[in-house]
Amino acid sequence: MRRCVKCKGEPVIDLKSTNAAFCEEHFIEYFLRQVGRAVEKYKMMAGGQQVLVAVSGGKDSMALWDALLSLGYEADGLHIDLGIGEYSRKSRLVCEKFAAVRGARLYVLSLVDTYGTNMEEIVRRTRRVSCSVCGTVKRYLMNMVVQQKGYRVVATGHNLDDETAALLSNLFSWQEGYLARQYPCLPSTHPRLPARIKPLVRLGEQETEMYCRVKGIEFWAGDCPLARGATSLVYKDLVNSLEDKMPGTKRRFLFGFWERGRRNFTGEPVELKDCSLCGQPTTADTCLFCRLMQKAGINPLSQPQVSQV
Ligand code: SF4
Ligand SMILES: [Zn+2]
Ligand SMILES: [Zn+2]
Repeated sequence: MRRCVKCKGEPVIDLKSTNAAFCEEHFIEYFLRQVGRAVEKYKMMAGGQQVLVAVSGGKDSMALWDALLSLGYEADGLHIDLGIGEYSRKSRLVCEKFAAVRGARLYVLSLVDTYGTNMEEIVRRTRRVSCSVCGTVKRYLMNMVVQQKGYRVVATGHNLDDETAALLSNLFSWQEGYLARQYPCLPSTHPRLPARIKPLVRLGEQETEMYCRVKGIEFWAGDCPLARGATSLVYKDLVNSLEDKMPGTKRRFLFGFWERGRRNFTGEPVELKDCSLCGQPTTADTCLFCRLMQKAGINPLSQPQVSQV
């Protein structure tokens, strides 16, 4: 392995995509610089310094939470406990421990306490693709917490690998609406909806994992038992094999899309109205969350049970 490009010290990582190796100290510096650059370039914190970070307990969201705190942002965490056995228990514990060690604020919203059932059961009853049901439920609940607690910005741990795989997948099926909305910073589209930001878009999974290891941040690496057959994994494999053969492909593809390609996809203008059941902003008469919950025989109007750690 090459020596650190900054100090010629012992390297912990050798990044072919940027043609640079770093020692521990300079890798942390590099990682934080990449996060800071994304925040600045895409004007992610226009709403102030306060942000709610969606934390699953995995390496990406834990690295993101730590990086935002290290950069001086008022970054509070939100963990949604999906109630899926060991996977959820371990994920929640990791988030709680991090909050205790860093003295950070963490909200935990429990699905079982709120609806009396877990994500596995909701997916089974709706007979839909698990990640799509789970994504809808998590997004909805996050918005509820945002409104309850008064946040204007939500940050998620989507990284370079996630975004590249999503872009390829959206291009393969010409999802014009998704292509128009695929961007690291989406401003709020409604007074009750937050801006959504993805500060890790300049960093890959290898980097977020190394950041956690070097900084001693605990994370839960277990696979979600509901994720079986997720097509995003197929696209990730594809993109990784291209990157192996041609380092830098992911960055060129994704950043090039944002600089030159995305402007060709404008998407349909969306008009938001209040959901006939819950009153939350939606494009349909009844929002997708309420329809899913009704299909699962669950009252969508149950008050979310949020505890603060
Ligand atoms: S992998 Fe899919 S089902 Fe599991 S937590 Fe993530 S979105 Fe939810
Ligand atoms: Zn160094
Ligand atoms: Zn609704």
